[in-house]
Amino acid sequence: MAFGFAQAFRTFGKLALAGAIGAGLAVGDVGAEQKTPSPGSAKGQFGAVGLPTQGPAQPIGFYAKGCMTGAVALPTDGPTWQAMRLSRNRRWGNPAMIALLERFSQDAVKYAGWPGILVGDIAQPRGGPMLNGHSSHQIGLDADIWFSPMPARRMTAEERQDLPFTTMLQKGKFLTVDSKVWTQSHARLLMLAASYPEVERIFVNPAIKKKMCDTWAGDRTNLGKLRPIYGHDSHFHIRIKCPPGAAGCTPQAPVPAGDGCDKSLAYWFTPAPWAPPKPPKPGAKPPKPPREMTVSDLPRACAAVLNAASVASMQAATYGGPSAASALAAAPAAASADDTDGALPDVGPIPNDKPAIQ
Ligand SMILES: [Zn+2]
Repeated sequence: MAFGFAQAFRTFGKLALAGAIGAGLAVGDVGAEQKTPSPGSAKGQFGAVGLPTQGPAQPIGFYAKGCMTGAVALPTDGPTWQAMRLSRNRRWGNPAMIALLERFSQDAVKYAGWPGILVGDIAQPRGGPMLNGHSSHQIGLDADIWFSPMPARRMTAEERQDLPFTTMLQKGKFLTVDSKVWTQSHARLLMLAASYPEVERIFVNPAIKKKMCDTWAGDRTNLGKLRPIYGHDSHFHIRIKCPPGAAGCTPQAPVPAGDGCDKSLAYWFTPAPWAPPKPPKPGAKPPKPPREMTVSDLPRACAAVLNAASVASMQAATYGGPSAASALAAAPAAASADDTDGALPDVGPIPNDKPAIQ
């Protein structure tokens, strides 16, 4: 009997891993292959625009169905951050999001023992759906942060393009955090991100949420902001609330009360979320693939956003002004392990100069 259960669990584990990989690509942030968009598709049009609109910053619509005006870019480099995958042109966000990221990066050094953070995708210049990867990140209020710490030197654009993601999960095991990779510094970083009142949700892999539930010994008030979801094992995703006065922004329901270490988490450790879709009954028509979102599916204002006048240049729309866009690019990384109150960060190995393919 025991053998039977163990075997069944192993089989389930394998299925679940396969499911996790598939689902991660479908909804996750790593990015599936770019497909040719169909005519009128929203992602084709929003993905083709290189610069944001002029004028005031407004998120329009919902995180997974919307666009934005007046976006600003996170500078590619700051003393406590480096932006990754620059060729994607997804460093754009609502100024409230960009300001939070800069502050978070500084606090990560001060309070969480990090040498700085690596910032992944935020949004396209005018938001909207993307050609690959995310289903959200459409209104400038979502941002991905790598679980890998910032190296003590500026990476080249090429290195930022090629640096592989490092999963926090143990290979070949079902939904288990790898204790050789995961550290208390990762836990501190997550809880720091959750501590800001404007942060409403942080998406992490269910195994990471469980690890936090099992091990976080500090104040658990904000633990409920950590939301389990597919993927998100090599980066986490910060979502902020609609900023005050953003009339066109559709808010999301607040997270339920409590720390979320309950049956809503236990669900992820059952077969249900990982089960492959049921095959159609014999003789039944195969289900149609979901229709690509068109511009007319988005809030009406988004069609005008596509056609609105651009800012003069990327530099002009960089948060902190044109000097922030250029001044830091040439500067060496200021933060290093020696600068963090003398305490060595226990955030695991710093990426090598030439990262190994994983
Ligand atoms: Zn994300």
